[in-house]
Formats: sequence, structure tokens, C-alpha cells
Amino acid sequence: MADTGIVIDPRYLQHDTGPGHPERPERIGTLLPVVNAAVGRYTAIPAREASGDELALVHDGAYVEDVAATRYKPGFAFDADTPTCERSYEIARLATGGFLALLDAVMAGQVHNGFAFVRPPGHHAERQRAMGFCLFNNVAVGAEYLRRRHGLERILIVDWDLHHGNGTQHMFESDPGVLYVSSHQYPYYPGTGAIDEVGRGNGEGYTVNLAFPAGFGDAEYIDAFTRIVAPIAQEYAPQFVLISAGFDAHARDPLGGMQVTETGFRALARVLLTIARDHAGGRCAAILEGGYDLTAIRNSSAAVLGELQGDADPLGPPAAPSRAGGLIERVRKAHGRYWKL
Ligand SMILES: [Zn+2]
Repeated sequence: MADTGIVIDPRYLQHDTGPGHPERPERIGTLLPVVNAAVGRYTAIPAREASGDELALVHDGAYVEDVAATRYKPGFAFDADTPTCERSYEIARLATGGFLALLDAVMAGQVHNGFAFVRPPGHHAERQRAMGFCLFNNVAVGAEYLRRRHGLERILIVDWDLHHGNGTQHMFESDPGVLYVSSHQYPYYPGTGAIDEVGRGNGEGYTVNLAFPAGFGDAEYIDAFTRIVAPIAQEYAPQFVLISAGFDAHARDPLGGMQVTETGFRALARVLLTIARDHAGGRCAAILEGGYDLTAIRNSSAAVLGELQGDADPLGPPAAPSRAGGLIERVRKAHGRYWKL
């Protein structure tokens, strides 16, 4: 059994996005009883606020100041999707810092791996722009923190959220020190994430986009993770595996057109944990991104947590044959010159 750390905090409910917004406090509220019921099986890691210096690892200082100024602007919105309240700046810092606390706990050997259940999410946030419900790019700050503060040189970020993580890609697309792999519905919000976006300059080959058509489910995700993500990641040999774990590719999700189930997410976690075990001493940390159906969030979170703990429930074969063959060939063609695929 692995010792698994969990970050969750009732203060994450205080980021008020207003009536009818899908990225709502109940997303964390629904997880609190799940986590409380599991006390004793997991190690609780207290959240802390990220410092200005930590946010500046990937964000412009002037942008951090813009977010800080929302404290005095009730009902402000960076765009139609991304509202803030007087508490949002503080809670966003607590989301980023909660993830950093988990990374510190893993690096210190206090836990083997873990999951940070935070909001607001982060992967759409750009260096100097909030968008898509996101203020600070939690996973990107985390990757940079592992490099600058813990001296690691190769970080793998796998982003299985329904949406492409434009912010994360842009922050690292010229940088071979972070391998960014995203599976996402395409074409869809935010518009980026085509297969031929493979990175730039020194980072060429270190951005991998699995641009899935709507309708893909467990069979296709598992197929692509097994035949593309696993071999590339094994060759890269990351020293830490980060998961941008949104659950909006779940079949129940109201925003998405994908058909993944909680068993599917569990299988994807298993692929990534194998990579972590083979290269990173098991070091792996997941962070919640999107996911807007409360039942799907609860069940998928429980499934991934079980996997992190090493429950090793048999998964069984996917119910349907994979239809991802053509897509996998296109990704192979785009990346065959960078990786042994
Ligand atoms: Zn999403």
C-alpha cells in the first residue's frame, strides 16, 4: 500500500462564481464527506497560500497584482467565464499553495503520492491572463517549483481534462524540462491543442496533443495512453509525474462530449503510476482541474485515489474495441521523429 496524501480545505468553497456557474463551490463540497469518510487511509496535508514569489515562477508580477486587486472589486470578471469575488485571490493562492504543500510532502518522503482537491482550477491560466474559470496555473507553478526549489530536471505533466490546457502548454512549449501531454476534445474550447502543436525551439517534441473527436471513451483513452503516452514517457524518464486531473471527460459531464467512466480514469492513473514507479521512485501528484457533474467527480476521485493507494482492483478489458487507431497513427506521424514510437 502506498501512503497517499490528500489536500482539501473548506475554504476552497469561498471562491464565489455566482449563480448558475458550473465551476461552483459544491464541486469541492461534494468531496469533503468522501475524504472525511476515508480519514485514516490517507494522510491529510494542510493547504497553505502560495507566496508571490512562487506564483511568479510562471506568472508575470503585474498579472498577479491584477488578480490581487480583485479583492476590492466585488462582482468583477476577467471574462464572461471567469468571475471573481472579494475572496477569490486568497483562495486561488490557497489552491496553488495546497498543491505545493503536497509536492513538498512527496519530496520529503512523508507520502508516496497524492491528490490535491482544489478550486479554482488552473490549466487555462496563461502567464498574464485569467481565462476558462482559472486564475493561477496550479500545475505549472508546481512543475516549476519542483525544478527550481527541489532541483528536478524532467517533469511529466499529463492533462486528461476534457479541455486542452492552453496555459500549461504555452508556459513550457519551448522547454524540454517539462513534457506536457494533453488528451482533450477537439475542436473545442479553448481552440488550441491540435496534433501538430508539438512544441517550439528546444522544446520541439516535448508537447504532445491527443486531439480526440467527441465520443471517445474508456477504450480509446486507454488505447492512446498505452500506445502513445506510455512509450514517450518511458523514454523521457520523468523524475516526477503530475496529473492535471479534470473529470469533465466523464460520460455524465454536462459540458463535455466524451464517454470516460470512473473505471477509465482508474486505468489511466494506472498507466501513469507505472511510469512514476519505473522512473520517479513512485512520485506522482494529481490536482483537480475541471469536472462539473458532482456524481462523476465523487466517483472518479474515489477511483483515482484507490489507484494511488495501490488497491490494484482488476480492471478487465474495455467493454468496446478502440476506435482510436487512426488518431494514434496521426500522433505517431507528428512525433515519430522525436520519440521511438
Ligand atoms: Zn475542463
